[in-house]
Parts: sequence; C-alpha cells; structure tokens
Amino acid sequence: DSRIHGIKNRIRVVPNFPKPGIMFQDITTLLLDHKAFKNTIDLFIERYKHKNISVVAGIEARGFIFGPPIALAIGAKFVPMRKPRKLPEEYILEYGTDCLEMHIEAVKPTERALVVDDLIATGGTLCAAIRLLERVGAEVVECACVIELPELKFLVNFSFVTIGSMLEIA
Ligand code: IMP
Repeated sequence: DSRIHGIKNRIRVVPNFPKPGIMFQDITTLLLDHKAFKNTIDLFIERYKHKNISVVAGIEARGFIFGPPIALAIGAKFVPMRKPRKLPEEYILEYGTDCLEMHIEAVKPTERALVVDDLIATGGTLCAAIRLLERVGAEVVECACVIELPELKFLVNFSFVTIGSMLEIA
C-alpha cells in the first residue's frame, strides 16, 4: 500500500530527545500533511469499520488526535484515557508503567473497544488501558498505533496493529 510509505516519510525522528540515546518519533509533522494524516486515519477506518466496535479509547495525549476521527467514521463513541488527576469526577485507576484514568460510567460491560495511541514501545501503556477497559467488563478487540519501536515490545501479550505492520498484511 503506497500510502504507508508516505505516512512513514512524514514522521520526524528527533535524536536524543527527551533524553540522550532516545530517538523520539514526532507525529506533529504527519499532521501538517493533510494527505498523509488522512491516509493514516483511513487505513484504520478500513480495518475497523465492520468490526462492531462501540468504543474507541484514546490514550492521552496523542491518542486524542488519532482516536476521534476513527470513532466518528466507524460509528463508535470516543472515551479519553487520561493521565492522572485530569478528570473532574469519579474515575477508576490502573497502574502500569504509568497511570491512566477513565470515567466509571463511560464504558459498559460487553462493549467492544479499540484502543488508539500514536506509538507502542514496551506496550506498558496499552496494557494499562486494556486492564482498565477489562475491569469494567469491556472486550478489547485490538490496539491500533501509528508507530512501533520494534526492539522494545517485551511486555506485549495482546493484539495490536501499526501502520508499519499493515504493510505486511497488505
Ligand atoms: P510504552 O508504554 O513503552 O509502549 O510507550 C508508549 C507511550 O509512550 C505512548 O503513549 C507514546 O505516546 C509514548 N512514547 C514513547 N516513545 C515515544 C516517541 O518516541 N514518540 C512519541 N511518543 C512516545
């Protein structure tokens, strides 16, 4: 799929940010290119439109950029998975490598969920999001990320897809 190469070309790699040795994957440059941004969203829509997904859970902050357009197009609601202490009312907590929170009533038991973030490294963040959704009785169908850091996924025991892995599927 030629769209995938266009998307990859628009992701800026910033060496030694935020710490020495880290190659930071910056998706803000992808957002500046309407076609590449749209292609990114379209690839996920094509994959999830007939999967009966009722909730798209986006992880703060960049899951808030990619999640909502996918949710609107596939006819699902959008639920923000927030970093700690950003929600005004009752929420439930999950502890992973980091901490995520969501509203207790946002997702009902038996709902089918898709988790969206910009990037998977160890998978710890997605794992916390999955546990949070499963705790309220939802079924996580898959996790969708734009980017993966292949050398880092040592925690991953769940189904996920990235723009890069779609190249292998296509
Ligand atoms: P993980 O929990 O180790 O899989 O790390 C994934 C989380 O860290 C995601 O929420 C990403 O947004 C963030 N992250 C880690 N490395 C990068 C990067 O290079 N660019 C952008 N986000 C990153």
